[in-house]
Amino acid sequence: MSTQEIRTASTIANSAVDEALRQEVLLTAEPQAVLFSLFKRFKERAAIVTSGQLSGMVLIHLAAENHLPFRVCTLDTLRLFPETYAFLEQVEARYGIQIERIQPDAQEVQRMISQHGEYLFFDSHAKQEHCCNVRKVRPMQRLLKTLDVWITGLRRDQSAERGKLPKAELLSAMTHPILKVSPLIQWTTEEVWQFIRDNDIPVNPLLEADAHGHVYESLGCMTCTTPIRPGEPKRAGRWRWQNAAPSEENAKECGLHYSI
Ligand code: SF4
Repeated sequence: MSTQEIRTASTIANSAVDEALRQEVLLTAEPQAVLFSLFKRFKERAAIVTSGQLSGMVLIHLAAENHLPFRVCTLDTLRLFPETYAFLEQVEARYGIQIERIQPDAQEVQRMISQHGEYLFFDSHAKQEHCCNVRKVRPMQRLLKTLDVWITGLRRDQSAERGKLPKAELLSAMTHPILKVSPLIQWTTEEVWQFIRDNDIPVNPLLEADAHGHVYESLGCMTCTTPIRPGEPKRAGRWRWQNAAPSEENAKECGLHYSI
């Protein structure tokens, strides 16, 4: 589904998104219980937003297993790996769901390419952020207009920067309050893999290590993502040409989780 097709019928903010709700989520340990409570209350105004990586797949599985027909959305930057596009279809077939593909505005993309070129992100960190803004952040902002609750697969062990993220956060930058919830925030990579194996959950083949131990630990656009070697930080493969930047950790985020 394109951005234009995002459901617009339910755009009235829900006043129940407040500090009391945030506290309730913080005090609910089990991810299943968090999902159940949020779906019961918000239905189509809540969505799992995922790129189909490991913890996102755990959330999709938990929702399906508990008969919680959440909206599932993914940001389709139009630059994803062919394996990722194929994997999304596989996930839809396995769980009987339709994943909403949230795409950038075609005119904004065209304007950006005309002004800065197709591969502007190689020029500077600022241009990379501009591209991520056009292809990810603004489409996400448009999606958020239809939501009260944004559910993510973020985990603290994904990077030092993400180690500081809260499990539930009230976002106030939009026209109405939004609760951003990361039910698996404390899960480790090992716990996620164990759950995936125990439940036979599908995995994007790019996230499986090759014979040399090289693996995509963090998947994004094909142009900006490389595998990592054993021992490298999980997000080292993102925008690898920026590794020499003084604030390397900050350079490893697209702004999606820090500018909204
Ligand atoms: S990851 Fe790269 S191609 Fe994708 S939106 Fe960001 S800069 Fe653009």
